[in-house]
Amino acid sequence: MARLIEHVIAGRKTAGTGPRRGDVYNPATGEVQAQVVFADPADVDAAVRAGLKAFPDWSAAPPARRARVLFAFRDLIERNMDDLAKIVTAEHGKVLSDAKGSITRGLEVVEFACGIPQLLKGEFTEQVGTGIDSWSVRQPLGVVAGITPFNFPAMVPMWMFPVALATGNCFILKPSERDPSLGVRLAELLKEAGLPDGVFAVVHGDKVAVDALLHHKDIQAVSFVGSTPIAEYVYRTGTAAGKRVQALGGAKNHMVVMPDADLDQATDALIGAAYGAAGERCMAVSVAVAVGNVADKLVEKLVPRVRGLKVGPGTDPEAEMGPLVTRQHMEKVRGYIDRGVAEGAKLVVDGRGLKLQGYEMGFFVGGTLFDEVKPEMTIYKEEIFGPVLAVVRSPDYKTAVDLVNRHEYGNGAAIFTRDGDAARDFCNTVRIGMVGVNVPIPVPLAFHSFGGWKRSLFGDHHMHGPEGVRFFTRLKTMTQRWPTGIRAGADFSIPTMR
Ligand code: NAD
Repeated sequence: MARLIEHVIAGRKTAGTGPRRGDVYNPATGEVQAQVVFADPADVDAAVRAGLKAFPDWSAAPPARRARVLFAFRDLIERNMDDLAKIVTAEHGKVLSDAKGSITRGLEVVEFACGIPQLLKGEFTEQVGTGIDSWSVRQPLGVVAGITPFNFPAMVPMWMFPVALATGNCFILKPSERDPSLGVRLAELLKEAGLPDGVFAVVHGDKVAVDALLHHKDIQAVSFVGSTPIAEYVYRTGTAAGKRVQALGGAKNHMVVMPDADLDQATDALIGAAYGAAGERCMAVSVAVAVGNVADKLVEKLVPRVRGLKVGPGTDPEAEMGPLVTRQHMEKVRGYIDRGVAEGAKLVVDGRGLKLQGYEMGFFVGGTLFDEVKPEMTIYKEEIFGPVLAVVRSPDYKTAVDLVNRHEYGNGAAIFTRDGDAARDFCNTVRIGMVGVNVPIPVPLAFHSFGGWKRSLFGDHHMHGPEGVRFFTRLKTMTQRWPTGIRAGADFSIPTMR
């Protein structure tokens, strides 16, 4: 019998009431390695009720006490790093070093959230009027939910819940049903760190679970990361139900390579950024925009590197790139490559035929490189989310920036150049949420905030950092005076500063 991955509700594991289950694969072998329970609305309701019960005490706890739980959790993650990485690799497929890197990026958000007493200090103005003081505080929302994608089963939930918990909320995680075990392990570690039962829950499932969260009257806010169509759906549905929603979507990240760029550096950057995690990163570079006469030289440097990529199971220390997450996703990525060829792009390296000895049933696609890709082609317009890099040739810098700005996605973009003027103009004018100058994957650190523009983010707040604190709290402003026996009488005009 396959291992069963259960929900965590009120601090306990439970199979819940819903009869439905999903298969969880080992992407390197193609075998089903576990089954995950799918929540129905009753399971979601049980998690919400546990959160409502825990909320009064947790939200009233001094921020320093909440921070102490997160400090302990931080240490537990460090101590369990190897095992956590193995869980990520076993279900997602990415190589172990990359899995560890992604957990570390999550850990950094925990470290940020440990500073919550400082972050929640509020604002105070003495004497806003004669004898009147005013101050603002940020208070938690209540029970909130996070719905996360398959590609970062540790990091993306950890963008959300450390800040949500530190600010005094109770949090329900709905991880991806494709790699759900890590969320359960995080719940165990939070409990071990001293988090009271009910403050953090994990409910698994698909659309049924998501809809139950979106429609539950006692969920105050929803933080979502996933593909653009679902992000838009979650944003519309959640806000229509009166919730605060931030919904991060898909991406098509461009890297502009200027004629004066160091081409060896640019090539290294493209190889890591396009093919790391088999391209299953929302900040993966999937389009290289070669400006002026740089394209031939760039493609010449890229080809042997793409052909030489070491593809293997994520547990192989030699592997640079693992399999894709599911057979369905592998077929989708292969389908995009077929489409690129059919639409006239030049396929320079073809990863479709890759077969690995001993892993013939694994979900592998080799590194793939297209040249002479045009903006009207499907492989340019759509997010492929696989190890496929498209080179687009641009006659000049202006055309390159226009290309980036016209794309419907606006997550990340980079420019590789030695020209400070071009770099400055790029930072200034590009319509993108996260921008790199000679940095291919400009993921903001935990104390800044992460988020895209255009159809890469629905809502007003980016994630973690100061924006995360704002998202998971609401503002309250007090105005106070202590009159000392002087009666001014009723005042019928609007109060002003006097
Ligand atoms: P997905 O949209 O398929 O799933 C995301 C979440 O939504 C999962 O928890 C899933 O169970 C749920 N879901 C799926 N279909 C649903 C439906 N019809 N109704 C309601 N809920 C549904 O995304 P994915 O394939 O897991 O992840 C890859 C996508 O996530 C890519 O598009 C990638 O760019 C994006 N992503 C974006 C960021 C970012 O920061 N912008 C970060 C990571 C991943």
